[in-house]
Amino acid sequence: MPAKLISGTQLSQELRTDIARRATSLTSRNCQPGLAVVLVGEDPASQVYVRNKVKACADTGVRSVLETYPATLSQADLLQHVARLNADPQIHGILVQMPLPRHIDPIQVIAAIATSKDVDGYSVMSAGELLTGSPGFRPCTPYGCMKLIESTGVDLKGKHAVVIGRSNTVGKPMALLLLQANATVTICHSSTPDLGRFTRQADVVVAAVGHRNTLTADMVKPGAIVIDVGMNRDDAGKLCGDVDAEPVKEVAGWLTPVPGGVGPMTITMLLVNTIEAAERTANAQQPIGHA
Ligand code: NAP
Repeated sequence: MPAKLISGTQLSQELRTDIARRATSLTSRNCQPGLAVVLVGEDPASQVYVRNKVKACADTGVRSVLETYPATLSQADLLQHVARLNADPQIHGILVQMPLPRHIDPIQVIAAIATSKDVDGYSVMSAGELLTGSPGFRPCTPYGCMKLIESTGVDLKGKHAVVIGRSNTVGKPMALLLLQANATVTICHSSTPDLGRFTRQADVVVAAVGHRNTLTADMVKPGAIVIDVGMNRDDAGKLCGDVDAEPVKEVAGWLTPVPGGVGPMTITMLLVNTIEAAERTANAQQPIGHA
């Protein structure tokens, strides 16, 4: 039986309905959720990502503030903008679009974002919260992958999950989230010999590599859940993932499509984190004794 497709588009719609409801409720309490999106430079891909984020906010009742700066902006000036947004009570989440121009150190910029507004979940503090299982913002892409896995109804307890890729933004946090859900986790990377030896044992495979056809059908355990994070182009210029999708569909139990799988979930989880940030602020402002 061919794999069931896990639609990130559909799951996103369901989650965004709930986000819109929570945004309306917050707005009625004079705390409309607000997301600041900061773009430095004119990278065309970044412009598309930023536009999609701003549109997603508009569609769900989240207020967005887009700040665009020329590529010549100094690091000191960018840090000042971040400090101003940190202090703005109407801004609950701050996202600085990556990549930044080469003269700006992304680590210093991310470190400057208040942890309470780090809705991308990229800061060292947020990473520490994830590592220790403390409440905090989870990086949006792996958080979205977890929601996609949850939507299958398969309990991860006792399952073996293999993550291909160990980036700070996808692979490593993904592995930690799977571990928290009681999976037994293996992380593979470019120095892993015989990748298939690991993936063939996996009940869940998350491919976050950035090379198409990294995961082929002979590398997949029958019935496995396969989450394809990759965003690549095929020879015809069409968007594709890291998974050789058509043959893998014949072996896997579940598969996320590209496009329409992980991609829409990443923006949705950014909205979820922003709503949660606003709810924390609203609840903190609530008078004592208020139910
Ligand atoms: P990255 O920083 O380039 O990391 C890629 C990882 O893949 C590295 O850890 C690398 O290992 C590993 N790798 C490379 N070749 C490999 C191979 N042959 N076998 C096993 N592992 C290999 O990329 P990323 O930021 O994590 O993103 C990964 C992919 O996901 C990209 O296609 C990106 O565009 C996509 N992405 C999609 C979304 C979305 O919303 N859909 C969001 C984020 C990223 P080493 O560490 O040893 O170099």
